[in-house]
Amino acid sequence: MADCVLCGCCLEGCPLLAATGREELSPRAKALLAGPSKWNAGELPETDVAALTGLCLGCGRCEKLCPQGVRVPVLMAAMRAGHPDFKQWLWKQWITKLGPFWSLAARGAALAPEAFVPGSLGLALKGLKGLRPGKGLAPWLSITRFPAQAFAAKHAGRAVAVFDGCVGQGPRAAWAETARFLLRGLGAEIVEAKFSCCGSTLGMAGLPEAQADARRANIAAWRGAGRPLLATYCATCRKGLAEYAAGGIAGGLFADEAEAALWRAAVTPLAALLAGAAAKTGRGAPAIVGYHQPCHADLNDGAGDADLALLSGLLGLRLRTPAKGGCCGFGGILQLVAPELSLKVGRGCWTSLDGALGFSAAPEVTPAYVLTGCSGCAMQLSATAPRGAQVGHWLEIILRK
Ligand code: SF4
Ligand code: SF4
Repeated sequence: MADCVLCGCCLEGCPLLAATGREELSPRAKALLAGPSKWNAGELPETDVAALTGLCLGCGRCEKLCPQGVRVPVLMAAMRAGHPDFKQWLWKQWITKLGPFWSLAARGAALAPEAFVPGSLGLALKGLKGLRPGKGLAPWLSITRFPAQAFAAKHAGRAVAVFDGCVGQGPRAAWAETARFLLRGLGAEIVEAKFSCCGSTLGMAGLPEAQADARRANIAAWRGAGRPLLATYCATCRKGLAEYAAGGIAGGLFADEAEAALWRAAVTPLAALLAGAAAKTGRGAPAIVGYHQPCHADLNDGAGDADLALLSGLLGLRLRTPAKGGCCGFGGILQLVAPELSLKVGRGCWTSLDGALGFSAAPEVTPAYVLTGCSGCAMQLSATAPRGAQVGHWLEIILRK
């Protein structure tokens, strides 16, 4: 990775800098401290490393703007990994122990007295409360035309596996069911495979070995299923999966370049497979629907945001998106280290949504109604939503009939 030249191009994209005005939290400051030629991370005092590396959302907005190709989230992950006393043990517990029981954890979060919830987990648990089973949005959109011919022409003979991610496998199993309903509508042959966590959260928490294990398990499951298309409905999962093949065979995950290329071409947003679908609204449809664009929706690879394209086609003028969408503030490990900053960034996001939707002017008449396409964003927006607001993944509005 190239070294930082301190140009400052990344500054305008950093939600943490925008929310706090603190230059020491900026990507430039982090790149300067963590860059290859500036410091040996191992020489920094542990407390400084913890403070620095914990205060990053991992949103990747800075790397999209960097002309040098500096990847601050990757630098932060490496520094976390180099300092084992860092709080990654807590995040590891959260993901590896709690992950399979998220459904239960979500119920537990709803029941746990706030006084018994550790302060640093409060916001994360609040997010889980928002995702607990039975608490999704009521559906109101019927698909009237599936682009089955276009799907068959493009992917003839290729089966599809759905990568549900931790939330789709746990508290929001309804997302998984709706994803399969939509694929059946396309006429797709669906194959089931036992996937693990995509691993990106583990990597960001400074747990490269756990991340590599998750990646190997997912590739093995994909091979076992006959190397099908991999449809995802979480922007962060998609980014995490796409990165498996970013270095070709250099990462040691794939047998050869051909298999790496096959993986690269296999990972696809579910929404992209549905491009060209038509729908009609039913009872309960809100007059105005907001869309929160996840930071990880645009991979900077020219693919754009397939969720936004699909929803624009299905909802037309009903859909509103902030001209300058903000980060929700989920930020993985930041929630554990500095939940107040996560909340501050989240409030800024709701302010930009309000600018597009205007819900604060008459919240009783037009309450906030916001859809997104990322599990982390859905959790965080649920945790930070103003009173009366409704938040969910776009899959929740689809009627399954
Ligand atoms: S990853 Fe996001 S929060 Fe972290 S430095 Fe970059 S822009 Fe700022
Ligand atoms: S990280 Fe990239 S964009 Fe930011 S100051 Fe350094 S070289 Fe410039």
